[in-house]
Amino acid sequence: MKEVLDDSLGNSNVLSHRSLNQRTIREVVYGIGIGVHSGEKVRITLRPALVNSGIQFIRTDIKGSVAIPAKAENVADTTLATSIAHGSISVATVEHLMSALWGLGIDNLLVELSAEEVPIMDGSAAPFIDMIESAGVVEQLQARKFIRITRKIEVNQEGAVASLAPYNGFKAGYTFVANHEIYDQYPKYVEVDFANTSYIEQVSGARSFGLEKELAYAHSIHKCLGSSLDNAVGLSEEGVLNEEGLRYNDEFVKHKILDAIGDLYLLGKPILGAFSGYKSGHALNNKLARAVLRCDDAWEIVTLKADISSGTGMPILHGQVKSSQA
Ligand SMILES: [Zn+2]
Repeated sequence: MKEVLDDSLGNSNVLSHRSLNQRTIREVVYGIGIGVHSGEKVRITLRPALVNSGIQFIRTDIKGSVAIPAKAENVADTTLATSIAHGSISVATVEHLMSALWGLGIDNLLVELSAEEVPIMDGSAAPFIDMIESAGVVEQLQARKFIRITRKIEVNQEGAVASLAPYNGFKAGYTFVANHEIYDQYPKYVEVDFANTSYIEQVSGARSFGLEKELAYAHSIHKCLGSSLDNAVGLSEEGVLNEEGLRYNDEFVKHKILDAIGDLYLLGKPILGAFSGYKSGHALNNKLARAVLRCDDAWEIVTLKADISSGTGMPILHGQVKSSQA
């Protein structure tokens, strides 16, 4: 693993040699919701954080709770959601918030929670995007670091496969393998290249989903206790139960991409590469992230020049920067 300043993604007609910088939010913002699995009411507060501090979670309902870094090696549970933990203190269902933070390029943030679980909001990443945009995005005075994949890394488990391969930019492809014929009428494969597709417009609104009849099993393992048609797309034998229908025709497979992006952002830095998932979920996404950490000859840390964000290959950078700070 080496660290390099990369300008190969940009055009040569550069106006500035400034590197693309880290970002945090401008001011404190909070929201209230319920945990989808616990059913518990929770207040979430997002606070600006210093450069190189990364994304960290803290439980305000536990006295003396330490901040838990949002890192793949801290993932403690992947049953129907991704949870991180430090000792006996855990934070559940981090993936949709992490996905939104990737979408807006937020590197440093302190997330306070008044209960164990991140609120589910509407089941997508869009409400977190709105929260962060209302707080404002600020650029910090240190270069943002990316993980550039230099050789393919692949993991598999029980017929599911997930991989990362070298790619000039970031794209994600996913194949959804349905467990019920009701899904046959919906797209099962999508590939999104974020150089020409907006995460906010095309992915962030994709909600969690599930079959109505799967809920009984989830309840039996004390999951989805807060689940409703307000925070998920529900399906019966006949089709979508939600009155408003789907937000995208390919909402299910897009949600799997949203989840994968959030799970992989637990690597602490955005990836430059191509993600591919076949039937994969939170467990395999975390296995892939851990494989990346282990195979440090398969990637390098790079910084990029600021003026290439609109150049070929570079993912569209969302979130208008309102001001700069140290
Ligand atoms: Zn999800």
